[in-house]
Amino acid sequence: MIIKKAELETVCGITSTFPENTDPEIVFAGKSNVGKSSLINSLMNRKSLARISSQPGKTQTINYYKVNDDLYFVDLPGYGYANANLATKEKWGKMIEKYLHTSKQIRCIFLLIDIRHEPGKNDKQMYDWIVYNGYQPVIIATKLDKLKRSQVDKCVKIVREGLGLPKEGVLIPFSSQTKQGREEVYEFIENLLAE
Ligand code: GDP
Repeated sequence: MIIKKAELETVCGITSTFPENTDPEIVFAGKSNVGKSSLINSLMNRKSLARISSQPGKTQTINYYKVNDDLYFVDLPGYGYANANLATKEKWGKMIEKYLHTSKQIRCIFLLIDIRHEPGKNDKQMYDWIVYNGYQPVIIATKLDKLKRSQVDKCVKIVREGLGLPKEGVLIPFSSQTKQGREEVYEFIENLLAE
């Protein structure tokens, strides 16, 4: 996959009407600070088009990046950050639910999990929620560069088991620092679009 063009096209808040896109949407979900902006920037070959969180979780928006004029990367707001009050969490939940129910163009939902840690309660809830909505999330295990090579298999197993990922479920280890895993993600998206 070659990214020729990428731009932020639409930003939606809780009261926004979501765009009725006709191009496929590739969705990115994950806990705040998991490395979602870094992943999206690295896929788009941009340093800072997607925000890198200085204040995690502050911006509760769904961002649509138009890529190559023929698909969207959809950046869902991060979940699970400390200090979020109940009202913020409810707002977040409603927005995601509305998105999952309304969008007719979702081709794939990537769920990002930090490769170093066992998935938390929020990660598991998000995973189950995506499955409940009819999608099989594809896991991107982030911050791969923080592990020694000898630790990778064990950590991947912990993430898979923690989420209850089925045998055939896809997990791609990824690092936005070394770009390891990027080709696999591109290839996965290309195959989806070719279907
Ligand atoms: P977001 O809140 O999920 O969008 O996370 P960000 O992309 O803003 O990243 C959160 C922090 O983790 C930042 O300090 C990033 O520099 C760092 N980070 C993100 N991805 C990686 C990675 O692959 N490797 C390492 N070592 N750090 C990363």
